[in-house]
Amino acid sequence: MVSGHMSKHESRIFVVAILLFAGIASAADKPQAFTRTDLTSANSLREKALADTTAYQLVESLTTEAGARPAGSPGDQAAVAWGLREMQRLGFANVHPVPAVVPHWVRGEASFAVLAPYPQAMPVLALGGSVGTGTEGIDADAVMVKDLDALAALPAGAVKDKIVFFSNRMDRTRDGSGYGKAVAVRALGPSAAGALGAAGVVIRSVSTSNNRLPHTGALRYAADKPRIPALALSNPDADALERQFATGKPVRLALRSSSRDLPPAASANIVGEIPGSDLANEIVILGAHLDSWDPGVGAIDDGAGVGIVMGVAHAIKQLGLKPRRTIRVVLFANEEFGTTGSKAYLESLGADAASHVLGLEADFGAGPVWRLASRVDPADLPAVDQIFRALAPLKLVRGNNEGAGGADLDGLAKIGMPILEPTLDGTLYFDTHHTANDTMAMVDPAALRQSVAAYAISAWLAAQYSGTWQRVTTPKPPRR
Ligand code: ZN
Ligand code: ZN
Repeated sequence: MVSGHMSKHESRIFVVAILLFAGIASAADKPQAFTRTDLTSANSLREKALADTTAYQLVESLTTEAGARPAGSPGDQAAVAWGLREMQRLGFANVHPVPAVVPHWVRGEASFAVLAPYPQAMPVLALGGSVGTGTEGIDADAVMVKDLDALAALPAGAVKDKIVFFSNRMDRTRDGSGYGKAVAVRALGPSAAGALGAAGVVIRSVSTSNNRLPHTGALRYAADKPRIPALALSNPDADALERQFATGKPVRLALRSSSRDLPPAASANIVGEIPGSDLANEIVILGAHLDSWDPGVGAIDDGAGVGIVMGVAHAIKQLGLKPRRTIRVVLFANEEFGTTGSKAYLESLGADAASHVLGLEADFGAGPVWRLASRVDPADLPAVDQIFRALAPLKLVRGNNEGAGGADLDGLAKIGMPILEPTLDGTLYFDTHHTANDTMAMVDPAALRQSVAAYAISAWLAAQYSGTWQRVTTPKPPRR
């Protein structure tokens, strides 16, 4: 066909070409969230972090030199000294402690036995913060309930002077949502039972493991309710106890615990920085917690997080990168028993709290990172999308904008600080969490390096963002 007019087919191609050209032009007109140099640096950071063993070495030295570090303990003191020394050794700027007063609970010894119908002893751990039984212990009939709702549904007087056994089992999930659903029994069960006149509580551990190690963790006594002793059983022993109840015969239990409170102690959050340049007074905060529970040595909770956030700052320093915003690493005191460290940190900031323009927290094990979620103003989501693209070689999935960070950044998030959440894989985390098995053997060096890479790229680009991180005004979703 010879004609001066385009065929239908040709004109369609022409229209598509015009539209494509217009699309490219409008993308070029829009200010880019990051410069080409920033993105090249992100690539270098990834390569550096994937080859760097600093984070792993930090977890090793923390767990070796301080060991278990429950708030107020000698291990906690050793960890504070370790944090100051290691941040200085790595050459961070503005290294200093932010003092925090922490509760000082001491575990003592605990024992547990079924007296009837079929006598046998089982290993237990006292819940963190629980009161002791006195040397005489508690021998009492027991009532089994699944959870708090089931307890509330019992007839009046059903648990008076009895031991309440909470039997609920947590679900294994990658994002930790199973923990969020199960943990209420540990935190609130003892006061709920105490309010009904119970003598003591034993819970099925908040655990996904079938080994015989119980999991500890904090309870939260209500100020106006009787404080009663509370212990945790491993999953297989909770199953065995359920079988005793299943006989239909009365179940009688014996509890002993010498847990007690000592006067509050002095501890500290440890701060160190990579100073910013043109936006130095805007802070991107990287948080983890220095304390741990005592049955293990806190390698995954939260030695790994400490290694990740310090490893990130170290990698940025090693490459000689100068961030626009200040990157501040904070190792928080006492996350485990009431987050008094992060509360003291927030208080110390006063009006400066708003200078914290974005936060990332590592408190969910040793990785790998599998997802990038966020909690930012919708106007900043294109920047998060671009960070996600920079993370592509690490093979993450794109999470939603309801990321929650962690407990230590809650206070800052509540006053509007945006959050980036490189999500650590929690599939196996609750096999070990708060048990004697929380040791270096649970830290996979390759997964830890991948996590440092994901956090490093996220933190670096957050510090380089050409826009302004808007404050987040939507209510914060409940933490997992
Ligand atoms: Zn933790
Ligand atoms: Zn913990």
